[in-house]
Amino acid sequence: MHIKKQRLLTPGPTPLYPRALQAMMASDIHHRTEDFRTVYRSALKDLKEVLGTTHDVLMFSSSGTGAMEAAVSNLFSRGDKAIVCSAGKFGERWVEMAAAFGLDAVVLKAEYGDVVTPDRVEAALAANPTARGVFVQASETSTGAAHDVRAMAAAVAKTEAIFVIDAITGIGTMPLDIEGWGLDVVVGGSQKVFMIPPGLAFLSLSPKAWRFAETSNLPHYYFNIKKEKKSADAGESSWTPSTSLILGLGASLEYIKQLGMGKMIENAQLLARATREAAVALGLELFAPNSPGSAVTAVKAPQGWDSGTIVKEFKSRFGAIIANGQGSMKGKIFRIAHLGYFDFADLFAVIAALEIILTANGFPVTYGTGVAAVQKVYAEAAVQVKRP
Ligand SMILES: *Cc1c(COP(=O)(O)O)cnc(C)c1O
Repeated sequence: MHIKKQRLLTPGPTPLYPRALQAMMASDIHHRTEDFRTVYRSALKDLKEVLGTTHDVLMFSSSGTGAMEAAVSNLFSRGDKAIVCSAGKFGERWVEMAAAFGLDAVVLKAEYGDVVTPDRVEAALAANPTARGVFVQASETSTGAAHDVRAMAAAVAKTEAIFVIDAITGIGTMPLDIEGWGLDVVVGGSQKVFMIPPGLAFLSLSPKAWRFAETSNLPHYYFNIKKEKKSADAGESSWTPSTSLILGLGASLEYIKQLGMGKMIENAQLLARATREAAVALGLELFAPNSPGSAVTAVKAPQGWDSGTIVKEFKSRFGAIIANGQGSMKGKIFRIAHLGYFDFADLFAVIAALEIILTANGFPVTYGTGVAAVQKVYAEAAVQVKRP
């Protein structure tokens, strides 16, 4: 049949940055050598630079969840009261983790597609003055919604609690002023905005968070932040690190620094806006219309459809992997990603493909309607028509 290029269009793993892939091939390197220490030190330094913080940033060889667990198991104690915001599949992960480690969680739940508002966090803190932590997702990847972490941080900063943010798809898709806003713990992962495969997790720790590490009594071994900080200061990681991914990360960080984190964020924001406008122009309904984030846009399948049809057709017709809904949203929504190595040419193609898939499966649209909406956003942002 026709040529179908394989395209990874999910919100993690995201498309890979070619130079990072090339860098990963040089992984015949030993992690206890000066050669590797140079690479590792530079990756940690550049991570801090792109995150815009002077706080300590630690790295673990694990998927993002490892750094989430490190935050819980190193900073809290059994029975600690915690306010946990849960607005989707990843919020539920915080809830499960808090239960696994014996925290006394007050869960602030929002329906899928909705968000937990900052005033609810403020009220929960007032009602639970002994709370030691507040947990949230900056961007809830399962629904595409984004939390107002800045306003939440202002509420948390006035208390004894620390603010722990899963920013795994927030980094690079929304401004996050770690020190200016008082974001105590910020968690990231390699397979999202960093444009490399899964397997590295990061977290930044404020001085307030470090003080919590002094009293924490929860068991941990692999994810030991004090040990990891000591190792990092010596240019190493505590255990054998994922050397190939760290080499790849170095190349990606180089690219992000060159572009500027602000531009990276603006790129995601423009693509997200264009996607929303295209979906609406095609007569589709957005899943998180009130607080849309820019990491991923969740769109409801047409009435009576299983969204899996759209996912399958992207693969069978165009070789492209897009994301279905997760958990209870499976079959109801599909998700178009914008974080990391995505550009407008990708989005023109995705929306053109979507128009064909919709039409071929009984939801006829006028070809070009969605694409035109994307072109309009691009034109307003970046086209200055030359006068003859
Ligand atoms: C991807 C992701 C994670 C991490 O999941 P892993 O599979 O452990 O990498 C956590 N939170 C959010 C919001 C994510 O998007």
